[in-house]
Amino acid sequence: MHCGSSNTDDSSSIHLQKRQRTDDKIRSATLDLEVLDCPICTEPLIAPIFQCDNGHTVCSICCPKLRNKCPFCALPIGDKRCRAMEKVLNRFLSHALC
Ligand SMILES: [Zn+2]
Ligand SMILES: [Zn+2]
Repeated sequence: MHCGSSNTDDSSSIHLQKRQRTDDKIRSATLDLEVLDCPICTEPLIAPIFQCDNGHTVCSICCPKLRNKCPFCALPIGDKRCRAMEKVLNRFLSHALC
């Protein structure tokens, strides 16, 4: 069966091409995602996102953990929502789903 051996050669070369393409996609996606990660737990931010008076952002899970105190400047955090960031996040998520 010569067909069988030639088939395996084809699939391996195709596999290599696919791998390179996905690597590129992942690289550009992680670049965007890093900005949208919580600096405390490094998990992707999910609305609601909270910010202090200095604009430091923290996710809603970390807010109670930090006792509503900004980890960077010790200002109160948890009262103000970071609407701008939530908008960016929603737009990014809707793009990622498509
Ligand atoms: Zn967090
Ligand atoms: Zn702060």
